[in-house]
Amino acid sequence: MKSGNGSLLIRNGQLVDGTGAAPVADGAVVITDGRIVYAGAADGAPAVEGAWVIDARGGTILPGLVEAHFHPTYFNVAALEDLDIKYPVEYVTLLASANARLALECGYTSARSGGSLFNIDVWLKEAIENGIAAGPRLAASGREICSAGGLMDWNPEFRKIGMEGLVLIINGPTEARAAVRKLVKDGVEWVKTYPTGDAAAPDTNDHHALCMTFDEMQAVVATAHNHNLKVTGHCRATEGIKNALRSGYDAVEHATFIDDEGLDLLLKRDVPAVPALQFEWASVEYGKGFGMSQRVIDGHKETLEGGAESARRILRAGGRLGMGGDYGFAWTPHGTYAKELTFFVKYVGLSPLEVLKCATKTGAEIMGLGAETGTLEAGKLGDVLVVDGDVIGDISLLEDRSRFVAVIQGGIVRGPVSQLCIQ
Ligand SMILES: [Zn+2]
Repeated sequence: MKSGNGSLLIRNGQLVDGTGAAPVADGAVVITDGRIVYAGAADGAPAVEGAWVIDARGGTILPGLVEAHFHPTYFNVAALEDLDIKYPVEYVTLLASANARLALECGYTSARSGGSLFNIDVWLKEAIENGIAAGPRLAASGREICSAGGLMDWNPEFRKIGMEGLVLIINGPTEARAAVRKLVKDGVEWVKTYPTGDAAAPDTNDHHALCMTFDEMQAVVATAHNHNLKVTGHCRATEGIKNALRSGYDAVEHATFIDDEGLDLLLKRDVPAVPALQFEWASVEYGKGFGMSQRVIDGHKETLEGGAESARRILRAGGRLGMGGDYGFAWTPHGTYAKELTFFVKYVGLSPLEVLKCATKTGAEIMGLGAETGTLEAGKLGDVLVVDGDVIGDISLLEDRSRFVAVIQGGIVRGPVSQLCIQ
């Protein structure tokens, strides 16, 4: 990705560096040629001749946010089956590009795909890296893997269509290996799987059901790791979480009903979890209006409560959480990503500083970019969000783009165009 040239000085705001440290009341950040050369107290900032200056207006200077569970091809659908057959790949590619631009405008300078129709996120990443499309730095997942009859295998046989666009359907370890090998050739970085079901499918694949066998998961991990890919999975059911951790998963999505043994396994390898939980709250709150049955809503409620408790336990026990939200459903549309952060403060009970660390430093670590971005520290990429207002006092300011002074990616001001002047 292209980096900025010259120097940028951001000043007149409290500095939240993303490490979880207390804010620096009067902070400054200096970026030169796309990299941070200084982040700290304003009175210690080096004088940089000819720097462009961004005035934070007494607000907050924080790292660019990381969406750790981003579905660029989910186009605000109301029904699951719309995800794979509603539009052709050409149109979904355009929608994904628009969603990526929106995510960047929302302050998300990096995002990890949680799965994508066809191979769109791999090529979206390429377009973003080459400056053709605007969007977060991406980690791509491509198509997801689920066993036959599992949560994502919803097209009935009589339709004579598979799930070619969205999911690779497998039966047994041999097909699991074949699916991963396909993804290796596609160029993904993360292999996204479905070890468990979800409240969305109460009849055959509910949130306590398993959708993959342990030997299928082991085959996925061995093949993926052999080719330097990482593995994650949609894990709600207690046994599914443990199967994922025992088979060597690199991350766990949701970790909804984790038990003590699962927590020990998670902490032993410091495996990050991405709860993606505001979706559950929104499903309980708005599901009726979108035709959800009471059974489905009840399942989401159980998931919400179990997931909130698990997230608190993981963080309190010293584990790592990424903030990502599965956005792209009709009741959780793209552009509302920061609702996840507000939710984790107001509903789950984490502190704003904890949530911001999860949404920046931990997110970058999950993406494998921990040395490059995620905190405001000298040497890192100039990925910065500047907000007019006290984000620690009111984290919901991050939902309001009209309060953004600047979104900066690699030292380039991506938006909104703030008043720049030369020092
Ligand atoms: Zn997802």
